[in-house]
Amino acid sequence: MSTRAYAAPSATEPLGPLTITRREPLATDVEIEILYCGVCHSDLHYARNEWGMTTFPIVPGHEILGRVTRVGAKVTKFKVGDTAAVGCLVDSCRTCSSCESDLEQFCLNGPVFSYGGPDKHSGGQTHGGYSEKIVCDEAFTLKVPSNLDPAAAAPLLCAGITTYSPLRKWGAGKGKKVGIVGLGGLGHMGVKFAHALGARTVLFTTSEGKVADGKRLGADEVVISKNAHAMAQHAGSFDLILDTVSADHDFNAYLALLKLDASMVVVGAPPTPQPVSVFSLLMPRRNLAGSLIGGIAETQEMLDFCGKHDLVCDIEIIRMQQINEAYERMLKSDVKYRFVIDMASLKG
Ligand code: NAP
Ligand code: ZN
Ligand code: ZN
Repeated sequence: MSTRAYAAPSATEPLGPLTITRREPLATDVEIEILYCGVCHSDLHYARNEWGMTTFPIVPGHEILGRVTRVGAKVTKFKVGDTAAVGCLVDSCRTCSSCESDLEQFCLNGPVFSYGGPDKHSGGQTHGGYSEKIVCDEAFTLKVPSNLDPAAAAPLLCAGITTYSPLRKWGAGKGKKVGIVGLGGLGHMGVKFAHALGARTVLFTTSEGKVADGKRLGADEVVISKNAHAMAQHAGSFDLILDTVSADHDFNAYLALLKLDASMVVVGAPPTPQPVSVFSLLMPRRNLAGSLIGGIAETQEMLDFCGKHDLVCDIEIIRMQQINEAYERMLKSDVKYRFVIDMASLKG
């Protein structure tokens, strides 16, 4: 079916309107009228081909929330009128060891991402949430707790799960000192989750204007990372540091803040390699790791956790037509703290 969308035609042109085709819902599919879609920095990296893997035109968007408008004959989880959400994953092989361990994002046969992935139905590539509708298998469609504001819940589908998953895996909680690097879309949810999990939470930011917000969002302490003296005060003291930065920065400055056997987990994905001195890791024995979004079951667990703790994202709602300006503001770290597109604007 013909679907209105917004796409990047090439790495150097602004995003603009494009009509795409979505499949008619199959037996286990849910059709969702998209109400809100968050704007992730990955959308910008991808639209500008900064990771060198984009096929154009591309419709970005993987923080998708809307209303169910049709369901296939075998759908059991959803009915017409339900609120439903889709994140970064729309399919996987479902049989490999990763899929069987609820780690579809690491599917050994290749996870199918919401945009830029191989679309086994159309033969082309998948297109994301900057569009009026999406059709997704119910196995990859999430339920959103009814107490959460839908626009502010949308970014949980990427910014939420990408920070929740490593904080849980690396044991953020009571008695732990956890650092969050960067106060953007991911970082602000990292601060909220680390605080909600009971960890002593320290925010590292390059933006002096974000100190008060950092504390309001749940940080016990905020460190301006450009201040070497302030950084040195924390040497060797962290159990875990979660790095959400989208651009070049010095990993070694944060590794130096870890305790023996503690870990720095990188989720930010700057396009260029970041140099690491082995001495940052050797003395005392430290770990550097990465993490990618989260599996479907864990994404549902995160949404339910947010429902229970009344946690959503701090957002600024924009119209679809403002997306290019929003990208420029994101590059200047000028977003508080996630842009969310009101998809009704696509029609008018
Ligand atoms: P964002 O909203 O733009 O936030 C990034 C933050 O990084 C900024 O707000 C800024 O925080 C800090 N920053 C920016 N430039 C910097 C620089 N030159 N030096 C130091 N700090 C800088 O982006 P986002 O949507 O949170 O995404 C962050 C990164 O995570 C992106 O690279 C994205 O592709 C990646 N990502 C990864 C996954 C995954 O699964 N691993 C999932 C989603 C996104 P301050 O102003 O506080 O310094
Ligand atoms: Zn994302
Ligand atoms: Zn698999």
